[in-house]
Amino acid sequence: MIQLKYMKIVADLHLHSKYSRAVSQKMEPKTMTQWARKKGIDLLGTADWTHPLWLKELEASLEEEAQGIFKLKEENNNQKNKESSQPVRFVLSTEIASIYSQGGKSRRIHNVVLSPSFAVASKINAELKKRGCNLLADGRPIIGLSSMQLGELVWSIDSKVMIIPAHIWTPWFAMFGSKSGFDTIEECWGKYHKNIFAVETGLSSDPAMNWRLKDLEDKSIVSFSDAHSPAKLGRELTVLQSRKEVKEFTYKDLLNALQRHKDSDWQIAYTVEFHPEEGKYHYTGHRSCQVRHSPEQTVNQGTICPVCGKPLTLGVMHRVEELASKKEIKPIKKANPAGVVGFYNPEDQTRPPYIMLVPLAEILSESLNTGISSIKVENEYNKLLEKLGSELKILTQSKLEEIEALSGTKTALGVEKVRTGKIVIEPGFDGVFGIVKIWQDEKQESSLSQTLDEKKQMTIF
Ligand SMILES: [Zn+2]
Ligand SMILES: [Zn+2]
Repeated sequence: MIQLKYMKIVADLHLHSKYSRAVSQKMEPKTMTQWARKKGIDLLGTADWTHPLWLKELEASLEEEAQGIFKLKEENNNQKNKESSQPVRFVLSTEIASIYSQGGKSRRIHNVVLSPSFAVASKINAELKKRGCNLLADGRPIIGLSSMQLGELVWSIDSKVMIIPAHIWTPWFAMFGSKSGFDTIEECWGKYHKNIFAVETGLSSDPAMNWRLKDLEDKSIVSFSDAHSPAKLGRELTVLQSRKEVKEFTYKDLLNALQRHKDSDWQIAYTVEFHPEEGKYHYTGHRSCQVRHSPEQTVNQGTICPVCGKPLTLGVMHRVEELASKKEIKPIKKANPAGVVGFYNPEDQTRPPYIMLVPLAEILSESLNTGISSIKVENEYNKLLEKLGSELKILTQSKLEEIEALSGTKTALGVEKVRTGKIVIEPGFDGVFGIVKIWQDEKQESSLSQTLDEKKQMTIF
């Protein structure tokens, strides 16, 4: 007999395989599965199904578990997600880069495309090839078709194909990008604009920034990692929750949840976000001129570089200001009854909330005072995971005392600071990642002498 139960799916659907440029050779099904487990991910995008060789590898290594949802053939108990004891699942996802001109401007738009089956993926690939697209050149193919032409192609094959505009604020490569994007969804997608029901925030924006746009009022706001190496998986996530007891999770369930169907069995529970300042394009600036401006500075000083005199790369913050119909929205931070991390909620409760995290390796790197890719950080990371569960669980739920016992007071306080958002970030700009500082100055350091108990009394979740 099939058991009915409430289910939760932690999903990362935008990432890349070893067939994409500048991606780790370790991005192959087995290692991706292992790292998904470490991170606490239940559902991974396969990435790159448009690449013929990768698609063959996927077909050979995956088997269908539920309609449109796959798992490794040799999946065994050891490869289940530690907390949920579910197998790590896959759904067919890819990212397609469209370069074309429209309205007298050059456009570069990245879209995440999800396919309900291998058969549909193969059909789409065949049609793309017929139109002269070179799918072998890169796991994230660059095609000359416009967003509208891509939509027409995939939806004439199967209406269940999902297109999610990727990292929509990135200046150079996105639907709302300041350099080569559009001002509205309709401008980009024409008569297909209603088929776009979800957008990806990207690392440089958070949901509250996206809530400000009228154009996104009825869209799902989703977050994924865009990982190029296994350790980066899950740095942003979308968590789905069943609204009633269910027996399985299918592609259709994913579709219904993202489409926000009223009677859908599934919904988005929350998203996991980077601090947007950490993203590469949060502020306006020039990398080579070392110029970095906040939105206020941009308003006061204009958009021309004071060093080289050329136009600055407009940051996501500035671009949001340009397109927003509502003033800055300050989300309300609320306690999470099931755990200890604070949730950011929209005032009117009409949208799923989100949490903001910093990767555990970054916390360890600061608390151990050593490089993020050092053996010391790696050993400490693995030790914590072995004893406490996935990275997501450690960052959001583990007791601080448990973290302290295993990894010392500074790591435990670091996790607490991340949970409460008491950290400082130098914002990223023009392709330079922002820098997180959990510990800022001498005064902060001396607070280490406080015990965790004292510290906790000061904290309001
Ligand atoms: Zn992209
Ligand atoms: Zn400059």
